[in-house]
Amino acid sequence: MIDYIIVGSGLAGVVMAERIATQLNKKVLIIEKRNHIGGNCFDFKDENNILIHKYGPHLFHTNNKEVIEYLSNFTAWDIYNHEVLAYIDGKKVSIPFNFNTLYEVFPTSKAKALEEKLLQAYDYNSKVPILELKKSIDKDLQFLADFIYDKIFVNYTAKQWGMKPEDMDGAVTARVPVFIGRDNRYFNDSYQMLPKHGYTNMINKMLDHPNIKIMLNTDFKEICELKEKDFYLFGSKFDGKVIYTGQIDELFEYKFGELPYRSVDMKFETVEKDFYQEKATVNYPNDYDFTRITEFKHIHPTNSPKTTILKEYPQEYIIGQNTPYYPIFTNENQEKYNKYLEYLQEFDNLILLGRLAEYKYYDMDDMVERALEVFEKEVK
Ligand code: UDP
Repeated sequence: MIDYIIVGSGLAGVVMAERIATQLNKKVLIIEKRNHIGGNCFDFKDENNILIHKYGPHLFHTNNKEVIEYLSNFTAWDIYNHEVLAYIDGKKVSIPFNFNTLYEVFPTSKAKALEEKLLQAYDYNSKVPILELKKSIDKDLQFLADFIYDKIFVNYTAKQWGMKPEDMDGAVTARVPVFIGRDNRYFNDSYQMLPKHGYTNMINKMLDHPNIKIMLNTDFKEICELKEKDFYLFGSKFDGKVIYTGQIDELFEYKFGELPYRSVDMKFETVEKDFYQEKATVNYPNDYDFTRITEFKHIHPTNSPKTTILKEYPQEYIIGQNTPYYPIFTNENQEKYNKYLEYLQEFDNLILLGRLAEYKYYDMDDMVERALEVFEKEVK
């Protein structure tokens, strides 16, 4: 007997399964299309014995102590502060753009003048989204905003999203704000760390419960059917709840049209060197077709004479051909999503959760927080 069906074994589905199994003592079936658990957090040791993130760099950071406490039931942690460089005009400089970057790109006198201007306009240690800085009326700040926009944002965003920063929800570029201070770290959160033995190990522990069964290599539609407002599992009507973490448009057979996503072609390479680059990630806003190179040895130190790097090539998502990674934030897409959401109200046994199902750009910590909240409010 199964009480809950969970579609997808990414963080959202896994947190939910763990809670239902341990707190409600109910039986859960997880249906997973891929041949592994963990969704896009999945990591594994490659042929160089280096722990790599199969679906791109996943760096855990949060200010939410509850999320840390919850996940600490399943993993120990290694402290890890992510740092990123951006290759601009033939030089690698610190990003998010901060006071250190000012001195890396401008002559000292110019950098000093700009630093003073920034300090007059903003609080020390504050974050200013680039689209906000672009609104400056001061001529020097306008110059700086244009410089940062042109060198760091406009071309990277064109590669990553096929759009201009101002045509998207400002929250996307605000993820990497201009930082009014000297912190070179990519994130400012109080907790920045990685599961000691990787995400897959942590997630396996979360799933290790007799109430949880997992079917890998199984498309939801192979064993489940949605007829009118009812779900059928292996041909019989299913009266429990379905927690769906896949694409909402696919579930409802594109009733209100396709929701666009951005995909990424992940190309891993082995380099016959101890290290390839100075930091874990180097962004290439203006050069090449990839957006960034990540070197996993910086993330999980390993004794190996070789190193594994990942180049990310963003691309359009095409159904059946590649993987949907990022929802695309425009008003038009949000309106389409809202139609699906309205339709969802007609179901009382279906919960949507996760980046794909909620059409939201969740970070891992937000995802755990959201799953715990949905469990408390809608499941328990
Ligand atoms: N971004 C940019 N240049 C950079 C880094 C980020 O233009 O060097 C913009 C770009 O639009 C990107 C967004 O900021 O999609 C968020 O960046 P983040 O590094 O958070 O992306 P993620 O790691 O989630 O792919």
